[in-house]
Amino acid sequence: MRILIVEDEIRLAEAVAAILRSQRYSTDIANDGLTGLQFALTDEYDCIILDIMLPKMNGLDVLSTLRAKDIETPVLLLTARSEVEDKINGLDCGADDYLTKPFSTGELLARIRAMTRRRGAAPDINLKYGDIVLDMKKGEMICGINSVVLGRKEFQMMETLISNAGQITTKEQFVTKIWGTNDESEYNNVEVYISFLRKKLSMLHSSVTIKTRRGIGYCLEGAK
Ligand code: CA
Repeated sequence: MRILIVEDEIRLAEAVAAILRSQRYSTDIANDGLTGLQFALTDEYDCIILDIMLPKMNGLDVLSTLRAKDIETPVLLLTARSEVEDKINGLDCGADDYLTKPFSTGELLARIRAMTRRRGAAPDINLKYGDIVLDMKKGEMICGINSVVLGRKEFQMMETLISNAGQITTKEQFVTKIWGTNDESEYNNVEVYISFLRKKLSMLHSSVTIKTRRGIGYCLEGAK
C-alpha cells in the first residue's frame, strides 16, 4: 500500500508518515499543492491524504484537477476546525472522507483502512515473485509451506525489490524510500538488511535470490 501525504506543515507530514510506515504503508510526502498534484497524477497511490490550505495550489483545486483527469484514488482531506465550509466543498469536489486537525493516530488509521477497504484494495495486496509471497497483513515472507516473519525494514526492502522486479533498485532508492533521507551514511544499512533477507530466503529454500550489481544496486532473480 502506497500513500501520498500532501501537507505543508513539515512536522505534521513527517509524523503522519512515521505512523503509516509503522503500519507497513509506503509513503511519499509533498509539501505544496502543485508537487502533490504532480505526484498524484502518476496514479500510483492507494490513498491520498490531502491538506486543504497549501502553498502554490490549494487542496480543493488539487482534488478537482485529479477528478477531472479521472484519477479516482481515494482522498482523505485534512481540515482545520474553522473550515466547515471547506468540508462541504471538499465532498463536492470528490473527497472520500475528511479528518479535522488535530486528530489521533487511531482515528487516522481507521479512516485509511476504511477508505482502502471500500475500494477493495485490501484483499489482494499480497505481492508475489517466483516462489515467494509477501503477506502484507502478517508481515511474513512465504515459500511453499515455510514462512518467516520479516522485520519492518526487511519487509519494506523486499516489497521494494518485488515492486521493481526486472529492474535494478539502487541503494539510494532504498535509503530515500525506507529511511526517508538521502543520507549516504545509511548505505551500509542497506547492505546489512540485504544480507538478512538473503539468509531468510535461503532458510525458506526459495529459488529466489538477490543479485548485487556492483556499484549500481540490487535485483531479484529466480522467477520462472
Ligand atoms: Ca496547511
